[in-house]
Amino acid sequence: MSGPVDAKDLSDTPEAPDVAPAAVVAVSDSRLANVGSLQVRRALPNRGRRTVGAWCFADHFGPAEADEEHRPDIGPHPHMGLQTVTWLLDGELLHRDSLGSEQIIRPGQLNLMTAGRGVAHAEEATSGFRGVLHGVQLWVAQPSATRHGPPAFEQHAELPRVELDNCDATILIGELAASRSAARRDTEHVGLDLEVRGATTVPVDPAFEYALVVTEGAVLVEGHTATPGHLVYLGAGRDELPLATTGHSRMLLLGGTPFQERLLMWWNFVARTRDEVEAGYADWADDSGRFGHVASPLPRIEADRPFWMP
Ligand code: MN
Repeated sequence: MSGPVDAKDLSDTPEAPDVAPAAVVAVSDSRLANVGSLQVRRALPNRGRRTVGAWCFADHFGPAEADEEHRPDIGPHPHMGLQTVTWLLDGELLHRDSLGSEQIIRPGQLNLMTAGRGVAHAEEATSGFRGVLHGVQLWVAQPSATRHGPPAFEQHAELPRVELDNCDATILIGELAASRSAARRDTEHVGLDLEVRGATTVPVDPAFEYALVVTEGAVLVEGHTATPGHLVYLGAGRDELPLATTGHSRMLLLGGTPFQERLLMWWNFVARTRDEVEAGYADWADDSGRFGHVASPLPRIEADRPFWMP
Protein backbone atom coordinates (compact mmCIF):
# COMPACT_ATOMS: atom_id res chain seq x y z
CA MET A 1 0.00 0.00 0.00
CA SER A 2 0.89 3.60 -0.36
CA GLY A 3 0.37 5.57 2.76
CA PRO A 4 -0.15 9.19 1.99
CA VAL A 5 0.14 11.19 5.15
CA ASP A 6 -1.45 14.60 4.92
CA ALA A 7 -2.24 17.60 7.06
CA LYS A 8 -5.24 15.83 8.59
CA ASP A 9 -2.78 13.48 10.28
CA LEU A 10 0.08 15.77 11.06
CA SER A 11 1.04 19.30 11.85
CA ASP A 12 3.52 21.01 9.56
CA THR A 13 6.39 21.25 12.00
CA PRO A 14 8.62 18.54 13.35
CA GLU A 15 7.27 17.14 16.57
CA ALA A 16 9.20 16.47 19.72
CA PRO A 17 9.46 12.76 20.54
CA ASP A 18 6.58 11.34 22.49
CA VAL A 19 7.56 10.64 26.08
CA ALA A 20 5.36 8.30 28.05
CA PRO A 21 7.31 6.36 30.64
CA ALA A 22 4.23 5.19 32.51
CA ALA A 23 1.95 2.25 31.85
CA VAL A 24 -1.38 3.55 30.57
CA VAL A 25 -4.31 2.31 28.50
CA ALA A 26 -5.52 4.96 26.04
CA VAL A 27 -7.95 3.89 23.31
CA SER A 28 -8.22 6.20 20.29
CA ASP A 29 -10.24 5.90 17.10
CA SER A 30 -8.49 5.25 13.82
CA ARG A 31 -9.21 7.65 11.00
CA LEU A 32 -10.87 6.28 7.85
CA ALA A 33 -8.79 7.03 4.76
CA ASN A 34 -8.73 5.86 1.17
CA VAL A 35 -5.67 4.27 -0.39
CA GLY A 36 -6.46 3.57 -4.03
CA SER A 37 -9.84 1.83 -4.01
CA LEU A 38 -9.30 0.48 -0.51
CA GLN A 39 -10.70 2.04 2.61
CA VAL A 40 -8.26 1.79 5.49
CA ARG A 41 -8.37 2.41 9.23
CA ARG A 42 -5.36 4.60 9.97
CA ALA A 43 -4.34 3.96 13.57
CA LEU A 44 -1.02 5.83 13.30
CA PRO A 45 -0.17 8.61 13.00
CA ASN A 46 -2.94 10.65 14.51
CA ARG A 47 -3.02 14.08 16.07
CA GLY A 48 -2.60 12.68 19.52
CA ARG A 49 0.19 10.27 18.74
CA ARG A 50 2.90 10.23 16.09
CA THR A 51 4.97 7.19 16.97
CA VAL A 52 5.11 4.03 19.07
CA GLY A 53 8.80 3.19 19.27
CA ALA A 54 9.96 3.62 15.67
CA TRP A 55 6.52 2.59 14.34
CA CYS A 56 5.15 5.72 12.67
CA PHE A 57 2.29 4.52 10.47
CA ALA A 58 -0.32 1.76 10.74
CA ASP A 59 -3.08 1.12 8.19
CA HIS A 60 -5.52 -1.78 8.64
CA PHE A 61 -7.45 -2.65 5.47
CA GLY A 62 -10.31 -5.06 4.91
CA PRO A 63 -11.58 -7.66 5.09
CA ALA A 64 -12.86 -6.56 1.67
CA GLU A 65 -13.81 -8.43 -1.47
CA ALA A 66 -11.28 -8.05 -4.26
CA ASP A 67 -12.39 -8.55 -7.86
CA GLU A 68 -11.98 -6.90 -11.26
CA GLU A 69 -13.77 -3.76 -10.10
CA HIS A 70 -12.25 -3.56 -6.63
CA ARG A 71 -8.58 -4.19 -7.20
CA PRO A 72 -6.05 -3.35 -4.53
CA ASP A 73 -3.82 -1.62 -7.05
CA ILE A 74 -1.41 1.07 -5.88
CA GLY A 75 0.77 2.42 -8.67
CA PRO A 76 4.47 3.27 -8.39
CA HIS A 77 5.24 5.81 -5.68
CA PRO A 78 8.39 6.72 -3.74
CA HIS A 79 9.45 6.41 -0.13
CA MET A 80 12.40 7.66 1.88
CA GLY A 81 13.56 7.37 5.46
CA LEU A 82 11.28 4.48 6.42
CA GLN A 83 10.66 0.75 6.13
CA THR A 84 7.34 -0.59 4.86
CA VAL A 85 6.04 -3.72 6.57
CA THR A 86 3.27 -5.65 4.80
CA TRP A 87 1.39 -8.40 6.63
CA LEU A 88 -1.68 -10.16 5.29
CA LEU A 89 -4.38 -12.03 7.18
CA ASP A 90 -6.17 -13.02 3.98
CA GLY A 91 -5.70 -12.70 0.22
CA GLU A 92 -2.56 -11.96 -1.73
CA LEU A 93 -0.70 -9.00 -3.25
CA LEU A 94 2.13 -8.54 -5.73
CA HIS A 95 4.99 -6.28 -4.66
CA ARG A 96 7.25 -4.71 -7.27
CA ASP A 97 9.98 -2.18 -6.57
CA SER A 98 12.72 -0.15 -8.21
CA LEU A 99 15.33 -2.66 -7.03
CA GLY A 100 13.79 -5.14 -9.45
CA SER A 101 12.01 -7.14 -6.76
CA GLU A 102 8.83 -8.92 -7.83
CA GLN A 103 7.29 -10.83 -4.96
CA ILE A 104 3.86 -12.22 -4.19
CA ILE A 105 2.94 -12.04 -0.53
CA ARG A 106 0.45 -14.35 1.18
CA PRO A 107 -0.83 -14.67 4.76
CA GLY A 108 1.88 -15.57 7.25
CA GLN A 109 4.64 -13.97 5.18
CA LEU A 110 6.37 -10.67 5.83
CA ASN A 111 7.44 -8.14 3.20
CA LEU A 112 9.95 -5.60 4.51
CA MET A 113 11.17 -2.84 2.21
CA THR A 114 13.81 -0.41 3.45
CA ALA A 115 13.67 2.92 1.64
CA GLY A 116 16.81 4.59 2.98
CA ARG A 117 17.67 7.49 0.67
CA GLY A 118 14.95 6.47 -1.77
CA VAL A 119 13.03 3.65 -3.41
CA ALA A 120 9.78 3.29 -5.34
CA HIS A 121 7.30 0.44 -5.31
CA ALA A 122 3.89 -0.66 -6.51
CA GLU A 123 1.39 -3.07 -5.05
CA GLU A 124 -1.01 -4.85 -7.33
CA ALA A 125 -3.71 -7.44 -7.41
CA THR A 126 -2.28 -10.74 -8.55
CA SER A 127 -3.71 -11.92 -11.86
CA GLY A 128 -6.89 -13.81 -11.32
CA PHE A 129 -7.19 -13.28 -7.59
CA ARG A 130 -10.77 -13.13 -6.39
CA GLY A 131 -11.62 -13.19 -2.75
CA VAL A 132 -11.09 -11.50 0.54
CA LEU A 133 -8.20 -9.12 1.11
CA HIS A 134 -7.32 -8.35 4.72
CA GLY A 135 -4.10 -7.02 6.15
CA VAL A 136 -2.00 -4.22 7.48
CA GLN A 137 0.70 -1.96 6.24
CA LEU A 138 3.04 -0.41 8.75
CA TRP A 139 5.97 1.96 8.53
CA VAL A 140 9.05 2.01 10.70
CA ALA A 141 10.97 5.29 10.85
CA GLN A 142 14.64 4.75 10.11
CA PRO A 143 17.19 6.29 12.47
CA SER A 144 19.69 8.81 11.15
CA ALA A 145 22.34 6.07 11.16
CA THR A 146 20.62 4.28 8.23
CA ARG A 147 18.08 6.64 6.71
CA HIS A 148 20.50 7.93 4.06
CA GLY A 149 21.66 4.42 3.20
CA PRO A 150 20.81 2.19 0.26
CA PRO A 151 17.32 0.75 -0.28
CA ALA A 152 16.66 -2.96 0.24
CA PHE A 153 13.84 -5.49 0.09
CA GLU A 154 13.40 -8.77 1.93
CA GLN A 155 10.65 -11.31 2.25
CA HIS A 156 10.36 -13.74 5.14
CA ALA A 157 8.20 -16.70 4.13
CA GLU A 158 8.66 -18.33 7.55
CA LEU A 159 8.50 -16.45 10.83
CA PRO A 160 9.10 -17.76 14.36
CA ARG A 161 6.02 -18.62 16.40
CA VAL A 162 5.69 -18.79 20.16
CA GLU A 163 2.87 -20.51 22.06
CA LEU A 164 1.69 -18.71 25.17
CA ASP A 165 -1.33 -19.67 27.29
CA ASN A 166 -4.38 -19.20 25.02
CA CYS A 167 -2.26 -17.28 22.51
CA ASP A 168 -0.33 -18.10 19.34
CA ALA A 169 2.22 -15.36 18.68
CA THR A 170 4.05 -14.80 15.40
CA ILE A 171 7.17 -12.64 15.58
CA LEU A 172 7.23 -10.31 12.58
CA ILE A 173 10.15 -8.24 13.81
CA GLY A 174 12.18 -8.35 17.01
CA GLU A 175 11.98 -10.85 19.85
CA LEU A 176 9.56 -12.69 22.09
CA ALA A 177 10.64 -15.07 24.85
CA ALA A 178 13.77 -16.72 23.43
CA SER A 179 12.77 -16.43 19.77
CA ARG A 180 13.79 -13.76 17.30
CA SER A 181 12.68 -12.79 13.80
CA ALA A 182 15.37 -12.62 11.11
CA ALA A 183 13.78 -9.44 9.71
CA ARG A 184 16.08 -6.43 9.52
CA ARG A 185 15.80 -4.07 12.46
CA ASP A 186 17.56 -0.68 12.61
CA THR A 187 16.18 0.32 16.02
CA GLU A 188 15.01 -1.53 19.13
CA HIS A 189 11.44 -2.43 18.22
CA VAL A 190 9.10 -5.38 18.02
CA GLY A 191 6.03 -6.37 16.00
CA LEU A 192 3.93 -9.39 17.00
CA ASP A 193 0.78 -10.93 15.56
CA LEU A 194 -1.27 -12.39 18.42
CA GLU A 195 -4.13 -14.87 18.01
CA VAL A 196 -5.80 -14.94 21.39
CA ARG A 197 -8.48 -17.32 22.69
CA GLY A 198 -9.32 -16.40 26.27
CA ALA A 199 -7.01 -14.93 28.90
CA THR A 200 -3.31 -14.63 28.23
CA THR A 201 -0.25 -12.79 29.44
CA VAL A 202 2.36 -11.53 26.99
CA PRO A 203 5.88 -10.90 28.30
CA VAL A 204 6.99 -7.38 27.32
CA ASP A 205 10.02 -5.13 27.78
CA PRO A 206 9.58 -2.40 30.43
CA ALA A 207 11.85 -0.08 28.40
CA PHE A 208 9.54 -0.28 25.36
CA GLU A 209 6.35 1.67 24.81
CA TYR A 210 3.61 -0.43 23.19
CA ALA A 211 0.33 -0.21 21.31
CA LEU A 212 -2.26 -2.72 20.08
CA VAL A 213 -4.06 -2.67 16.74
CA VAL A 214 -6.95 -5.16 16.76
CA THR A 215 -7.51 -6.87 13.39
CA GLU A 216 -10.26 -9.37 14.30
CA GLY A 217 -12.70 -9.64 17.18
CA ALA A 218 -12.22 -7.70 20.40
CA VAL A 219 -9.77 -7.56 23.28
CA LEU A 220 -10.08 -6.50 26.89
CA VAL A 221 -7.01 -4.69 28.28
CA GLU A 222 -7.10 -3.62 31.92
CA GLY A 223 -10.80 -2.82 31.75
CA HIS A 224 -10.77 -1.23 28.29
CA THR A 225 -12.30 -2.95 25.27
CA ALA A 226 -10.86 -2.46 21.78
CA THR A 227 -11.99 -3.64 18.36
CA PRO A 228 -10.82 -3.02 14.76
CA GLY A 229 -10.67 0.75 14.23
CA HIS A 230 -8.94 1.44 17.53
CA LEU A 231 -5.38 2.10 18.59
CA VAL A 232 -4.68 1.05 22.16
CA TYR A 233 -1.67 2.99 23.42
CA LEU A 234 -0.12 1.25 26.42
CA GLY A 235 2.86 3.41 27.38
CA ALA A 236 5.92 1.75 28.88
CA GLY A 237 7.01 0.25 32.18
CA ARG A 238 5.29 -3.16 32.14
CA ASP A 239 7.04 -6.49 32.15
CA GLU A 240 3.90 -8.35 31.22
CA LEU A 241 0.70 -7.46 29.41
CA PRO A 242 -2.55 -9.23 30.38
CA LEU A 243 -5.09 -9.60 27.55
CA ALA A 244 -8.50 -11.26 27.47
CA THR A 245 -10.88 -12.17 24.66
CA THR A 246 -14.15 -13.99 24.33
CA GLY A 247 -13.61 -16.40 21.49
CA HIS A 248 -10.97 -15.91 18.83
CA SER A 249 -9.46 -12.45 18.36
CA ARG A 250 -6.40 -11.27 16.55
CA MET A 251 -4.22 -8.20 16.97
CA LEU A 252 -0.82 -6.66 16.37
CA LEU A 253 1.32 -5.67 19.31
CA LEU A 254 3.79 -2.95 18.27
CA GLY A 255 6.50 -1.67 20.56
CA GLY A 256 9.91 -0.18 20.88
CA THR A 257 12.21 2.28 22.55
CA PRO A 258 10.57 5.72 22.23
CA PHE A 259 11.93 7.28 19.02
CA GLN A 260 14.42 9.96 19.95
CA GLU A 261 14.60 12.00 16.73
CA ARG A 262 12.17 14.64 15.56
CA LEU A 263 10.25 13.45 12.51
CA LEU A 264 8.66 15.38 9.69
CA MET A 265 6.28 13.13 7.74
CA TRP A 266 4.71 14.27 4.51
CA TRP A 267 2.95 12.10 1.91
CA ASN A 268 5.14 9.01 1.57
CA PHE A 269 8.26 10.58 3.04
CA VAL A 270 9.71 10.41 6.52
CA ALA A 271 12.25 13.18 6.99
CA ARG A 272 13.53 15.67 9.53
CA THR A 273 13.25 18.98 7.65
CA ARG A 274 11.08 20.69 5.05
CA ASP A 275 14.12 20.93 2.77
CA GLU A 276 14.41 17.15 2.74
CA VAL A 277 10.73 16.74 1.91
CA GLU A 278 10.95 19.37 -0.86
CA ALA A 279 13.96 17.57 -2.35
CA GLY A 280 12.07 14.26 -2.34
CA TYR A 281 9.02 15.92 -3.90
CA ALA A 282 11.13 17.49 -6.65
CA ASP A 283 13.09 14.30 -7.33
CA TRP A 284 9.87 12.31 -7.82
CA ALA A 285 8.14 15.04 -9.85
CA ASP A 286 11.21 15.40 -12.11
CA ASP A 287 11.81 11.64 -12.28
CA SER A 288 15.41 12.45 -11.41
CA GLY A 289 16.39 8.81 -11.04
CA ARG A 290 16.79 8.97 -7.28
CA PHE A 291 13.81 6.68 -6.67
CA GLY A 292 14.43 4.45 -9.69
CA HIS A 293 11.87 2.84 -11.95
CA VAL A 294 9.23 0.23 -11.13
CA ALA A 295 8.35 -2.26 -13.88
CA SER A 296 4.62 -2.01 -13.23
CA PRO A 297 1.75 -1.64 -15.71
CA LEU A 298 0.09 0.80 -13.31
CA PRO A 299 0.45 4.57 -13.72
CA ARG A 300 2.77 6.49 -11.42
CA ILE A 301 1.20 8.24 -8.46
CA GLU A 302 2.09 11.93 -8.43
CA ALA A 303 3.10 13.49 -5.14
CA ASP A 304 0.96 15.86 -3.16
CA ARG A 305 2.72 19.22 -3.22
CA PRO A 306 3.84 20.07 0.31
CA PHE A 307 1.32 22.62 1.52
CA TRP A 308 4.01 25.06 2.60
CA MET A 309 5.48 25.29 -0.91
CA PRO A 310 4.35 28.28 -3.01
MN1 MN B 1 4.11 2.47 -0.33
